[in-house]
Amino acid sequence: MSESTHSEPVAAVVVAAGSGVRLGGEIPKALRLLGGRSLVAWAVDSLAAGGVTDVVVVVADGLEDDFEVALADSLVSYRIVVGGASRQESVRRGLAAVGGCDVVLVHDAARPLVPAQVVASVVEAVRGGASVCIPTVPVSDTIRQDVDSGNVVVDRSTLRAVQTPQGFTYDVLLAAHDQAKGADYTDDAAVCEAAGHAVVLVPGSREAFKVTEPFDLLVAEAVLRSRA
Ligand code: C5P
Repeated sequence: MSESTHSEPVAAVVVAAGSGVRLGGEIPKALRLLGGRSLVAWAVDSLAAGGVTDVVVVVADGLEDDFEVALADSLVSYRIVVGGASRQESVRRGLAAVGGCDVVLVHDAARPLVPAQVVASVVEAVRGGASVCIPTVPVSDTIRQDVDSGNVVVDRSTLRAVQTPQGFTYDVLLAAHDQAKGADYTDDAAVCEAAGHAVVLVPGSREAFKVTEPFDLLVAEAVLRSRA
């Protein structure tokens, strides 16, 4: 596989079409405010800080104008497209809008504070020849698997929590998504793994956590204050 250079553009699909019911509130999660800006605006700017040059933001049908307003002050050029019923379908639609490029990232709008260093290391890994690269962090809780036959402790030393942005060569991700149509994967590395691709891990960051519940927004506010 050929290696790409630093001058080549890096595209990203930011999925923001979920409703965010676990967070509560009247408006979709990606439009909720953190330090006076929407989660999606933080997410897009975090990608830009890590070297992303073009962004496609995937949003729920009918909310295009709200996202235009939310992204008006973003640091990178972006387009908005309408997503689907599942995250996987939303990524597919975002990828179609990206068009051709060598390196593409997929990022959750719900991870607004991913450090630039994490974004950059994912980009570097793909530029360096990895077809699929994901940031992960070790798990700190002891984990038990709870199944019908009972529950059993799992060796946590080998477990990794998976974050975004995940990085791919565009052609690999597009083909893997075409192959995965109808299946239901919660991330794009799993889509590529099902198509036979090896997944390269790079260190993620606690600050790249996903805002899911009200508690997470409190933590995100604290992280933001710590950066000021
Ligand atoms: O539901 P989950 O937490 O896995 O969602 C992760 C990301 O996928 C969120 O940023 C959400 O907005 C996005 N998503 C989407 N389209 C859907 C469902 C989720 O873009 N249909």
